[in-house]
Amino acid sequence: SEGEPLLAVEALTAHYGDFQALFGVDLHLDPGGCVAIIGANGAGKTTLMRTIAGILRAGAGRVLLDGAEIQRLAAPEVLRHGVAMVPEGRKLFPSLSVEENLLIGAHERKGDGRWNLETIYDLFPILRERRRNPGTALSGGQQQMVAIGRALMSNPRVLLCDEISLGLAPVVIRDIYAAVPRIRESGTAIVVVEQDIGQALKIADYVYCMMEGRVTLSGRPSDLSREAIHDAYFGVS
Ligand code: ATP
Repeated sequence: SEGEPLLAVEALTAHYGDFQALFGVDLHLDPGGCVAIIGANGAGKTTLMRTIAGILRAGAGRVLLDGAEIQRLAAPEVLRHGVAMVPEGRKLFPSLSVEENLLIGAHERKGDGRWNLETIYDLFPILRERRRNPGTALSGGQQQMVAIGRALMSNPRVLLCDEISLGLAPVVIRDIYAAVPRIRESGTAIVVVEQDIGQALKIADYVYCMMEGRVTLSGRPSDLSREAIHDAYFGVS
């Protein structure tokens, strides 16, 4: 697009000790946009999300939010700047109720956004019914909804979603992905990590495929052939 990206990742690297997990990754997210990151196990998708979120320290390269560098900020600072992460595995507080889990996300709240308990219950009506239930009493899909709602409670400009469909039934995945357009309409842009290529192509306006810590293919879903994706996903020998 013509305008400045909301989020720009430039030549980003990351390491776990001596092991290099990211090799010069570039990624752009437009305001209100949705990009998907696909790739096999171990490709570096989670590492990229955690590095953007400030959970992992970046090596070289930059992460720019509205043109300002954020790659040296710690995770709470990144959240305060408007980048919220829905971690893989949901990570709810099991002894707290649905509502209490959501309110934890309001801790770093920016005042003027659209998200609050009522709008999140409108997004996922089952959570309104279950609002007094402890996290442990929820199905996997409901827990995922709480994890998304909790991240939205900070009124983020960017929502990073790590494998939100993992282990869920197709009907539940459909319900969760139905929320994506409504989240985008609220002005929150989204990055999803998704193992399901078909799902990624459906939901995103731009797709990045990673393999062994590198982006091996990127483009609009309509411009990517199945063959090219297959090669970028599994490698060509
Ligand atoms: P998955 O779908 O399995 O989550 P992924 O694409 O998200 O895969 P990452 O979890 O980012 O991949 O892992 C990228 C590489 O970094 C892998 O080789 C993995 O073994 C390695 N790695 C991930 N976490 C750590 C860690 N805490 N310590 C050392 N190596 C790690």
